[in-house]
Amino acid sequence: MISVSDARDALLQLTREMEIEHVPLAQAAGRVLAQEVSARRDQPPFSASAMDGYAVKAAEVELHAMFQVIGEAAAGHSFDGELRPGQAVRIFTGAPVPRGADFVVIQEDVDRKKDLITILSDPGPSSNIRPRGGDFHSGDSLAAPRILRPADLALLASMNIAEVPVRRRPIVALISTGDELVMPGGTPGPDQIIASNTFGLKAMLEDFGAEARILPIAADTETALRMAFSLTAGADLVVTIGGASVGDHDLVAKVAGDLGMDRSFYKVAMRPGKPLMAGRLGGTPMVGLPGNPVSAMVCGHVFLWPMIQTMLGFRQPAPKIMTARLSHEISANGPRQHYMRAEISAAGDLTVFSNQDSSLLSVLSTANALVIRPPNDPAHAPGDMLSYIEI
Ligand code: AMP
Ligand code: MG
Repeated sequence: MISVSDARDALLQLTREMEIEHVPLAQAAGRVLAQEVSARRDQPPFSASAMDGYAVKAAEVELHAMFQVIGEAAAGHSFDGELRPGQAVRIFTGAPVPRGADFVVIQEDVDRKKDLITILSDPGPSSNIRPRGGDFHSGDSLAAPRILRPADLALLASMNIAEVPVRRRPIVALISTGDELVMPGGTPGPDQIIASNTFGLKAMLEDFGAEARILPIAADTETALRMAFSLTAGADLVVTIGGASVGDHDLVAKVAGDLGMDRSFYKVAMRPGKPLMAGRLGGTPMVGLPGNPVSAMVCGHVFLWPMIQTMLGFRQPAPKIMTARLSHEISANGPRQHYMRAEISAAGDLTVFSNQDSSLLSVLSTANALVIRPPNDPAHAPGDMLSYIEI
């Protein structure tokens, strides 16, 4: 049995970075930027008015000063000419500031009679002009790797970058194993249950930035498992669910071994999720997750997340570990690292659920945190700060 952190290191050794592909901006949300990209222009590309008003010379601005309006500048339509002393140009937000002007008096501060304006309120010190390149300059860059958020896409668009280099999404093949499993919507026999992990893991993997493919359920026979493995061609990562413990029907290790799996480790000192297996099968990383639904999902958070991160180009991915105040007593932990289902209230108080059975999806669904208890962590009292990851 190896520690959680050794298992994580070994899993990262199995993974490789995905290639770079170029996608249109409109399809880049949530993708991982693979290379630094640089602005192709200044923004704004000219000094622009930030308000609706009148462009004038700052040196001439004072209460009761009068100006002659000689033209207009609107967004997309500059004023063709140069401002002389005593002159003003009617200007609107986003319009280029005319040559010779360096101040915009907002329209609320002036009175206009025909082509004459008079400043009637103190315009204050702000010039109401956005300087050229005030947002960014040509050549300014957005660093990689990063997950592209909506604001990043707006920024890239205004940098005039129409296509972005992103990491290809790793393809993960998901194989559920077990004679007892039936797909949702199917008709289970009296001794059967519905395959659930597959769907939780697919959603989780896609949330991590991967593309998950659900393969047909493999029955508990060597032939069925071999068949399932034969359908994984083209996957960047193969994940099996169940059949990984030491029961008579737990055939994943045997079949993978017969197919030539180069095993990296088997069994991790953690709860839930001890019977985790990993290796390389025909050059492709493979992870064998335990079948218990909560174990599979917890292993997804703890192990599949850093693997997918690495495949997407993040080096040394570290989970965001937070702390919260425990609201009750909990007993000492055993020798394995324990990921306990818990709930953090809106006020930040932490409640660890009393039932930690690894088959209870209802408890996992209520939980919004996994509290991390290191091996042999002592008992804790209300008010103690405990570490957790969000789920
Ligand atoms: P196993 O690791 O195959 O012994 O499975 C452990 C437990 O998890 C058993 O109760 C299985 O029925 C259950 N299980 C295995 N795979 C799945 C799955 N894909 N969805 C729901 N339960 C599963
Ligand atoms: Mg099974």
